Amino acid sequence: MPEVNSYYAHSAGPQTAYPPLVGDQCVDICIVGAGYTGLSSALHLAERGYSVIVLEAESVGFGASGRNGGHVGIGQRKDQYYLEKQFGSAIARGLWDMGLEAVDTVKQLIHKHEIQCDLKQGILHLAHRSKYCRELEEEVHHLRDNYQFEQMEYVEAAALPNFLDSQAYYGAQWDKASVHLHPLKYAQGLAKAAAEAGVTICEQSKVVGYTEGSSIVVRTANGNVTASELVLACNGYIEKLEPRINGYIMPINNFVLATEPLSDTLAAAVSKQDTAMQDTRFVINYWKLSADNRLIFGGGENYRRGFPSDIKGFVRKYMLQIYPQLENSKIDYGWGGTLAITLNRMPHFGRIGDNIWHLQGYSGHGVPTATLAGKLIAEAISGKLERFDLISSLPTRKFPGGTLLRWPGMVAGMLYFALRDRI
Ligand SMILES: Cc1cc2nc3c(=O)[nH]c(=O)nc-3n(C[C@H](O)[C@H](O)[C@H](O)COP(=O)(O)OP(=O)(O)OC[C@H]3O[C@@H](n4cnc5c(N)ncnc54)[C@H](O)[C@@H]3O)c2cc1C
Repeated sequence: MPEVNSYYAHSAGPQTAYPPLVGDQCVDICIVGAGYTGLSSALHLAERGYSVIVLEAESVGFGASGRNGGHVGIGQRKDQYYLEKQFGSAIARGLWDMGLEAVDTVKQLIHKHEIQCDLKQGILHLAHRSKYCRELEEEVHHLRDNYQFEQMEYVEAAALPNFLDSQAYYGAQWDKASVHLHPLKYAQGLAKAAAEAGVTICEQSKVVGYTEGSSIVVRTANGNVTASELVLACNGYIEKLEPRINGYIMPINNFVLATEPLSDTLAAAVSKQDTAMQDTRFVINYWKLSADNRLIFGGGENYRRGFPSDIKGFVRKYMLQIYPQLENSKIDYGWGGTLAITLNRMPHFGRIGDNIWHLQGYSGHGVPTATLAGKLIAEAISGKLERFDLISSLPTRKFPGGTLLRWPGMVAGMLYFALRDRI
């Protein structure tokens, strides 16, 4: 992935190259996209005995899956209060259980397939305003009382120096069940596991269209795939491939930097217990240490095509608000990625006709949820739709204005909330 100036691309080690599709192939299932969604789907489907091909426009993990913060958080993108209110307590409970299962699935895949991806335990959720402390503390009790979840503690301001040296926060939740990892190594590990399970992965094989029917013919520049089922796993990179699902997501860009390797003193100031961290801002700041003691810090996003010309400088200002002691630390890498959000921030799963499936819109919570999506689609295609349908049947709406006009209003809204973070 040489064109992405990410720490991940430079530290992932030698990458297996998968040859492009040339000529015609016939399989049970064709998957478009080799991020976590596509790769986990491929692996779980192959384990059920299906013949599977994955077509990827660029390379494995080229999309958000190779560029993200690597936080593997429990729960859903929306908290349990929201889920209970919107969908009722039974569905909220089902979604909570799935959130825990998603993190467990990531951990199980890593152990089963011996994926070396710097897996570490724990995420700290930090209140950037004192008024959020009570909410964080109450949520700890709510999860304990209603979901029997014991692996989260509230951390008072006085105890924050046990975790980090920063004056920017007022309290935190310490979530000991969530984990964090090197996202690109994880994607490559999933690809290797899928290939070993018999999946054909084709890189540099952009899907340009398909013809529907009981057999679907999927077209790339140099070959076609005929399949009984098609799974669209393109998320924020889908562009115009399937206009019927485009209006349900909005692609947004998010940005990350990696510092030079920090001294032990500075690394301890950033994260004393090597937990990942994120804060309560609408545009979340999130960070963790890499295996070689760099700060990997995500902060700032934009809502248009294209990235800022100086990504390092764009993200650095957010980092310095939290850690002014890094003023003299060199920034070695800066990169961006595109993710898809939905209006209600819940994933958008579904089916077009009988045999075109889509899994998208993880809204920044895709490391666990896209991995679980692969398990759910394998169940669904095998005829067990219940768990897939728990998500696909959540009420969802298109962005106002449809595909063409969704931008101005939404962008204004996002910018308004982003501005509120900063004042
Ligand atoms: C900067 C950033 C930070 C993030 N941090 C976190 C985090 O810390 N924790 C978390 O849970 N989530 C995070 N996310 C979100 C998470 O990374 C995504 O939700 C997840 O990776 C989505 O996986 P995916 O496989 O669905 O999509 P992607 O990984 O984006 O993969 C889609 C793939 O489809 C391919 N594709 C698209 N169109 C075609 C076509 N026509 N033909 C062939 N291939 C095609 C693309 O090339 C791409 O490789 C972050 C996202 C970004 C961008």
